[in-house]
Amino acid sequence: MRLQDDLACLKGLGPKSAEKFHKLEIRTVEDLLCYYPFRYDDFKSRQVADLMDGEKAVVLGTVVTPATVQYYGFKRNRLSFKIKQAEAVVNVHFFNQPYWQDKIALGQEVAIFGKWDSKKASLTGIKVLAQLADDLQPVYHLTKGLSQASLVKAIKTVIDSGYLQLLEENLPRYLLEKYRLVDRQSAVLAMHFPTDLAAYQQALRRLKFEEFFYFQLQLQSLKASNQKETAGTPIVYDEQKLAERLSALPFALTQAQRRSLTEILTDMASGRHMNRLLQGDVGSGKTVIASLAMYASHTAGYQSALMVPTEILADQHYRSLKELFPDLTVVLLTSGMKTADKRAALTGIADGSVNMIVGTHALIQEAVSYHRLGLVITDEQHRFGVKQRRLFREKGENPDVLMMTATPIPRTLAITAFGEMDVSIIDQLPAGRKPIITRWVKHEQLEKVLDWLNQEVAKSAQIYIISPLIEESEALDLKNAEALYQDLQEFFGTRARVALMHGRMKSEEKDQVMQAFKAHEIDILVSTTVIEVGVNVPNASIMVIMDADRFGLSQLHQLRGRVGRGSKQSYAILVANPKTDSGKERMRIMCETTDGFVLAEADLKMRGSGEIFGTRQSGIPEFKVADMVEDYPILEEARKVASQILAQADWQASPDYQMLGQYLKQEQAFD
Ligand code: ADP
Ligand code: MG
Repeated sequence: MRLQDDLACLKGLGPKSAEKFHKLEIRTVEDLLCYYPFRYDDFKSRQVADLMDGEKAVVLGTVVTPATVQYYGFKRNRLSFKIKQAEAVVNVHFFNQPYWQDKIALGQEVAIFGKWDSKKASLTGIKVLAQLADDLQPVYHLTKGLSQASLVKAIKTVIDSGYLQLLEENLPRYLLEKYRLVDRQSAVLAMHFPTDLAAYQQALRRLKFEEFFYFQLQLQSLKASNQKETAGTPIVYDEQKLAERLSALPFALTQAQRRSLTEILTDMASGRHMNRLLQGDVGSGKTVIASLAMYASHTAGYQSALMVPTEILADQHYRSLKELFPDLTVVLLTSGMKTADKRAALTGIADGSVNMIVGTHALIQEAVSYHRLGLVITDEQHRFGVKQRRLFREKGENPDVLMMTATPIPRTLAITAFGEMDVSIIDQLPAGRKPIITRWVKHEQLEKVLDWLNQEVAKSAQIYIISPLIEESEALDLKNAEALYQDLQEFFGTRARVALMHGRMKSEEKDQVMQAFKAHEIDILVSTTVIEVGVNVPNASIMVIMDADRFGLSQLHQLRGRVGRGSKQSYAILVANPKTDSGKERMRIMCETTDGFVLAEADLKMRGSGEIFGTRQSGIPEFKVADMVEDYPILEEARKVASQILAQADWQASPDYQMLGQYLKQEQAFD
């Protein structure tokens, strides 16, 4: 029995179901053990007086009438009884679940999870809960064909078969003692089956520390090995040519853009190795600066590469670079490309006839060999891990590195998160931009919104409509988007050309839709959040976000940044009936400001106020349980400890650190 055992070897789990787990990146028993819930439903009971119509909740009460089952039609039935909660009498109905009758006895206290109907003062039961105590129910991300129940069952099987005992402690004992962290096995167990809130919180604290600690170890050992080779090649660019390009731009750079460009060029020209973060709100004009840096690199006789997280973005940047530099050879490299095109691109990259390369992860794959790679730029770099960044650097002759991000990160956090990186900030939007007008409307007002959209389409406006985000499953996301798309098609009929885009589409299909939208062959684009990052359609001036309260502030801000890119007055319409105070607050803040830094700060404050079970919002690198912003104190502690350990010359020899040394070696072997 090993933790690396394939899932398919588990009892009751054949290759067919194992395949479904693979879709969630769960292959081994260990993967499954470390696949944590993303949220816990708090089954704390509620007072019916506080419930909103249609809300799902647990209601605790005493049974005051016997339960009766009424049969009607074929196999249909209704189980009914009354419970009393304080002074309120509640009618409870279960449809087609007669088996709950056994659990209902007169005078007994019961906990029922159901949907509240305030008009009828009745509860439509979903289930009778076994426990009356507060109950945390884990909720996992799923994929098609895999239910919460079967996932939980698989985890139970793994634990019952004794695999948990194989999980070795991977933190030195003295750290566990110093920070009073629970051991690894208990932590993993409590993530899946928390006995109570306190146990869960302890587990979480330990796992967050572990995650940050290993992240910091990796980052800092990487930094140490980089420092040995900080001497970069001076990129002697042609100032004259660059100045010509600058004056050929259809606009003048903002002061903040000029400052950032100078900082970047100075780094590049120096013999020092550039490692810089370019931070600026959506639409602040980072891409232009990056393009100019790429051009400078070309004039010095070096290739440059731009890596982005999605194929749509790669294509967009590719087109805009070609447009900006028609005299240069720019190629696109993505894994979705046709083999022949890819081969041609690879040949050109290797023999140096290609000047600039734009692509996705394909850029760091084995087969790519660069000619003289002088500059590497990553867009929305928080989507790339430390390892990937290193791989990229190792491709060239220690190229200069520029990372761009639209996520406003406080400077202190950036330093801890990214190590010793220089930061340039574009804190100014190009002149003449009209601020986006944001309005929050309730679902009841949707029809008015649609009528208004109809008028705007007639005036040749283009519109994004973002379908609600369902964290549990991509399949549900899709279903929602499709339903919305159909409704809208029905509403607009021939008055507007409506199209749909979602994450399940092939990248070429997405590209086609996006290009058609850019070319104004589509008026209304219904989409899931796949358009979130970077997509640029200047004529699109309206964005409607359905169930906007499901999104975090940073994500709403990123989404909203897709409009307001042209000269037209732009609008963002948030459609939401938030159930929580924080949801309402988020809607209000979005209407008040369009400043990314103000929003980031508000986000920080709101989440600091103990929203333990909320959804996670856009972070920097992807962590399983930890959150760079929310858990900053833990991150800072982990950073200190990691640097103390690495500062000891012979740390790898110490028995305390055996696991750590092994881990770092393993990571390097994987590269
Ligand atoms: P970001 O990458 O920061 O989101 P972009 O570089 O895509 O922003 O710029 C957004 C839009 O603004 C683009 O259409 C770009 O051509 C334009 N733009 C960039 N800089 C300026 C400027 N200084 N003045 C006017 N328009 C600009
Ligand atoms: Mg951009």
